[in-house]
Amino acid sequence: MVKMMNDKKPSFFEGRRAFLKGTAYTVAGAAVAKGVFTNIIDTPAFAEDHERVTAPVNLERYPDPEKWDSYLELDGNDWKRGGTGRNGVKSASNPHGIKLTEYMLVPTACLNCEASCGLTAWVDIGVYKETKNPKDLKVRKYMGNPLHAGSRGRNCAKGYATQSQMYDPDRIPFPLKRAPGSKRGEGKWVRTTWDEAMKEIGTKMKTTLERGDEISRKSIMYHVGRPNENGFGHRVPHSMGCDGYDSHTNICSAGARQGTIQWTNDDRNSPDWANADLIFLQSSHAADAGHYFQQAAGRIADARKKGAKLVVMDPRMSNSAGMADLWVPVWPGTETALYLYLANRILNEKGRNGEDLVNHNFVKNWVNWDRLMANKEYLNLLVEKGYIKSLPKGDSYEDFIEMIAGMYKPLYT
Ligand code: SF4
Repeated sequence: MVKMMNDKKPSFFEGRRAFLKGTAYTVAGAAVAKGVFTNIIDTPAFAEDHERVTAPVNLERYPDPEKWDSYLELDGNDWKRGGTGRNGVKSASNPHGIKLTEYMLVPTACLNCEASCGLTAWVDIGVYKETKNPKDLKVRKYMGNPLHAGSRGRNCAKGYATQSQMYDPDRIPFPLKRAPGSKRGEGKWVRTTWDEAMKEIGTKMKTTLERGDEISRKSIMYHVGRPNENGFGHRVPHSMGCDGYDSHTNICSAGARQGTIQWTNDDRNSPDWANADLIFLQSSHAADAGHYFQQAAGRIADARKKGAKLVVMDPRMSNSAGMADLWVPVWPGTETALYLYLANRILNEKGRNGEDLVNHNFVKNWVNWDRLMANKEYLNLLVEKGYIKSLPKGDSYEDFIEMIAGMYKPLYT
């Protein structure tokens, strides 16, 4: 256990990495304040054979936002070289060869999926401070943004990989247009400027729309991969009378979203994970991937810390299944049969003390049972198709429960 100067106990999150970062901060503080690195850390795990610098006052998971304009951190390579007191570049004022990097932490957002988690870009401002050349500003890494309400400082691997994308040698950070004289499909391109690209596209759209006929409006198409917004992007082309807005989805996403849109009238709703007692995931992978799930995963972890149980139904042993309290390894495609079985037991069996297993309060408030009971045409169709034997006696909630209890009862036992 790290003994800190103020004897504050490390919190749940304060692991070794936080300790290293916190130590770096204190190193920075000591360096700035005194210009020397002479203190000895009071940390049993490290103090035995290494001379160390002052232990941090607080082991911080993230630097205090007050320090984001100028935050000094021990260089990552310095730790690789052996940390303080070993192989760093030494000098009279820096006897332990400690290298500090001065960062400005700039809040931004990850665009690798629509969850748009908060990030902080760690911009190395050391060289820039001397040269004043903006080209010397380099983002060294991306970390979470603890002030972001959705992700709360947590990111999936794609968020941290933003740095690799940014400096990827294959990245094309400027617009291209077809080389003059070349034909579509020839793959010949020349660089253009943003101003020129916007002007050219804008002019073409304007002249096309000015024709005013249906065909012209339909000849404009706007395609965006993942739109990174929720139901806004299509309104811009719609406002110009164009219906050629296109983005993509995929079968896993579309299937899940269809369910939540029908059930809750919301696209990828966000349950109150953190206050759940039992969390049930069917073929969804909080611990693996899935847009939006990274932010949900943090809240699922919060709930589990409070004692919630996690049940995962999945044919494969996913990472999420591996962490669950119960893994239900169904055969692929048999999930629905399991749900029918559960519905039957809940509707047609009693609890240990003879109580109903149905949460009537929930069903009354969250299921559109009254609309179903009012729809006589549909009820007649259910009779006609053999899903129910006869029309319900009345249209009360009790009649509804009796009807569906019969509906989910197996025909053969
Ligand atoms: S879930 Fe991952 S990829 Fe999506 S926005 Fe958050 S960090 Fe980026």
